[in-house]
Amino acid sequence: MQQHKREEDRRDTSCLICRLIQGELPMYLVCEDPSFVVMLDIHPVNPGHLLVAPKMHVDSFYDVEDALYIPMMLLVKRMSRAIKAVFAPLQVVMATSGVGNRHVHVHVMPVYGLYDVVPKEVIERQEAYTPPNEELVKVAREFAAYLTAQGS
Ligand SMILES: [Zn+2]
Repeated sequence: MQQHKREEDRRDTSCLICRLIQGELPMYLVCEDPSFVVMLDIHPVNPGHLLVAPKMHVDSFYDVEDALYIPMMLLVKRMSRAIKAVFAPLQVVMATSGVGNRHVHVHVMPVYGLYDVVPKEVIERQEAYTPPNEELVKVAREFAAYLTAQGS
């Protein structure tokens, strides 16, 4: 009962994914377990594009509790194998951004070409510019300094 109450407290009634999970909106459910749902993305990059989401509302991928991370990513891995078996794509890729819907969800997508998930102009822009060596060294040193200060 206490657990149930806690789960409800962490629901966001304005959240699309919470509303899908609660059955307030139709969802193309692929499978579920006590902690996660797997559903079809209704705007797929290709057929078989899945969303893996925790049932509990969490705003950011990086705020998911440690104990849920491994089961979530193992489920993503399991779904990638299902996509490979059913659709035989060139590759299965994953993405999570947190820029759009604020409920953690991992896209697991079959892709058949380089530009299925990353627009050609983004790849061309990246390839067109390589920062100078000193800039890359500076960025790497900033991370190293931060991580050393954190003791990690
Ligand atoms: Zn939510």
